[in-house]
Amino acid sequence: MDNCIFCKIVNGDIPAEKIYEDGDIIAFNDINPAAPVHFLLIPKLHIASLYETDESDQCLLGKMLLLAPQLAKKLGCPDGFRTIINTGHLGGQEVFHLHIHILGSSERLPVMNHHD
Ligand code: AMP
Ligand code: ZN
Repeated sequence: MDNCIFCKIVNGDIPAEKIYEDGDIIAFNDINPAAPVHFLLIPKLHIASLYETDESDQCLLGKMLLLAPQLAKKLGCPDGFRTIINTGHLGGQEVFHLHIHILGSSERLPVMNHHD
């Protein structure tokens, strides 16, 4: 996808602090971290969001989720981390290339706000 910022990172057209790469997936630090550890796991393939996935993506999605705890541990979160996938405009998604946020801290992460 020509205008996708994460495809540009995959292609090396714009820089990122890469922390993991294999044939299907890369992980890199979020440019605007919301916690001391905050990185993104993305498929190299352009998939706009979780809405655009189907059974053919089962293996890829499983692989991404399995990497989350491994990379979290490696990056200094041995006792816990938070995974977030924002999906669609109302889900707060800003970059329309599927990504899993991994957030971690040496302190307990703030509890999610509850709806009134
Ligand atoms: P979301 O709201 O789930 O779509 O989150 C998009 C995330 O991508 C935000 O946390 C941004 O800080 C992050 N982001 C945007 N551009 C870049 C970039 N060039 N390198 C690293 N992270 C980025
Ligand atoms: Zn893309």
